[in-house]
Amino acid sequence: MSDSLLRVDDLQVHFLAGKGKLVRAVNGVTFDLKPGETLGLVGESGCGKSTLGRAILKLGPLTAGRVSFDGIDVGTGDHAGIAQLRRETAMIFQDPYNALNPRLSIGSAIEEVLRVHRKVPPERIKARVAELMQLVGLAPALAGRRPSALSGGQCQRAGIARALAVEPKLIIADECVAALDVSIQAQIINLLIELKARMNLALIFIAHDLGVVRRLCDRVAVMYLGRIVEEGATEDVFDAPKHPYTKALMRAIPEIDPDCGLPADPLGGEPPSPLDIPKGCAFHPRCPDVMPICREALPQNRFVGGCAVACHLYEDPTTNSEQERERIHA
Ligand code: SF4
Repeated sequence: MSDSLLRVDDLQVHFLAGKGKLVRAVNGVTFDLKPGETLGLVGESGCGKSTLGRAILKLGPLTAGRVSFDGIDVGTGDHAGIAQLRRETAMIFQDPYNALNPRLSIGSAIEEVLRVHRKVPPERIKARVAELMQLVGLAPALAGRRPSALSGGQCQRAGIARALAVEPKLIIADECVAALDVSIQAQIINLLIELKARMNLALIFIAHDLGVVRRLCDRVAVMYLGRIVEEGATEDVFDAPKHPYTKALMRAIPEIDPDCGLPADPLGGEPPSPLDIPKGCAFHPRCPDVMPICREALPQNRFVGGCAVACHLYEDPTTNSEQERERIHA
């Protein structure tokens, strides 16, 4: 769509694992993201969320399909295009310690980004480091400390300050609060909510914590074995999930503790493996609603009640209008 910042079209990422086995990590993912919008990407481990995030930023391979960011074709972009991608995007990783260079103080780590991307004149760099640290709630006096002298929450804030140093239009946060204590998680999430409002950041939030996704995200995409099986506005997906897999995930959230993660095995049955994707609907071996067609044919997206759903239960062609799709993404 013309007003999209990011457009992902039928993206596939396959690679060889040990013994020459083909891992089909991402299998035809399509979505778009507008400036300032937050998309939560959820699903069990191994569903391809992180591989998808890395491919979008060209930090990992793209096998087929197209990713377009702010007019740059990420797959085929020339040197200038990829340099622009690096200037306008950033990734925040799960492990706040490993994401930072242990030999550099956090001030130097932020400074490095400002120098490489020439974001401010050399004489302004120190002041900008202090501004960025204050923006993420870190006292500038901590600038001289190395990651080992800081808490996990402080390191994650430093990682966010480093990401913000490029003044990105898009941040992909990959399980960025998963390794932190609950109280620190809440502080980081509040910080992201504040920054997104203040800086009009687009954010892809990869998470297994559905409570956090509900608080932070405008839209949710549920992934299963490399495909998005349901996507829609956060309230629509949480209040009225449609795909049997999404329903299972939602059922597994205890009412008394909405801030819990995805269950390790929401439905029982064989855990999913991207090395051996079942024919037809990949979810069919675990689905309580499975039908004969599900074992043979891959379900296409249907647009139901404000959400895109890939499931044969919603085969009524009258619900599959392009106008409805436009409405969802309007
Ligand atoms: Fe279940 Fe069939 Fe829908 Fe897949 S397509 S989720 S197996 S009902």
